[in-house]
Amino acid sequence: MPESRRIGIFGGTFNPIHNGHLSACRQVCRKLELQRVYFIPSALPPHKGTRQLAAGHHRLAMIGLALDQDPCLRASDLELKRPGPSFSIDTVRSVKAASDENTCLYFIIGLDAFLSLHTWRSWRQLLAETCMAVMSRPFQEAQSAGDFVKQLETYLCYKLSLAYEYHPEEECFKHPVLMPVYPVEVTPVDVSSSRVRECLRKGLPVETMVPEAVAAYIKNKGLYR
Ligand code: ATP
Repeated sequence: MPESRRIGIFGGTFNPIHNGHLSACRQVCRKLELQRVYFIPSALPPHKGTRQLAAGHHRLAMIGLALDQDPCLRASDLELKRPGPSFSIDTVRSVKAASDENTCLYFIIGLDAFLSLHTWRSWRQLLAETCMAVMSRPFQEAQSAGDFVKQLETYLCYKLSLAYEYHPEEECFKHPVLMPVYPVEVTPVDVSSSRVRECLRKGLPVETMVPEAVAAYIKNKGLYR
């Protein structure tokens, strides 16, 4: 049987992409041995306001600049091309439909976003169709790896399904019918897109928070003023 291909789907607003996204995603890639990750900016994020939302083509262009020549990471306009709100279930299904049967999908998401999964459209189907790679985020109260896994376990079992069980040897939560959920403790990079936008509004430098080419693009196009 041919070996499976591991593909990551990294959805987000990426308004703009920053060093936290890049660092965390590269760590997930290494840990789960993903061959490719698609960064997919949402057209209309269902869970976020659209105030200060840069146009999709700008956000996509900044992702392209940030990923540069990395052979493993790609920008995708899948959600930008689709009309209406960007629901992850539709994205996962279309990536699946375009992939061969040996492809295994990993939906990459930060813990902050994952903790509201029960409010997402068709969240159970999403968990049935793709593995989840849940990344820790620096500002959370959980201090150690143990706290992070515990916080994830509490949410999985009490909000989503009591049938989730942690398997330490495989470092993931398994479920009798849903796909595994992998907690990935990442080295914290304390940046968020809102912080980047706030600095830009105040005229403060953002060169330590976003790649150089992204900072130059923002300046050239006069974004987030
Ligand atoms: P905003 O500040 O506007 O809410 P954001 O920085 O959270 O944005 P998004 O584009 O919404 O960026 O994030 C996409 C995904 O990346 C989410 O799953 C989020 O949890 C994750 N993420 C964002 N920043 C980090 C970070 N510093 N470390 C780990 N994961 C992150």
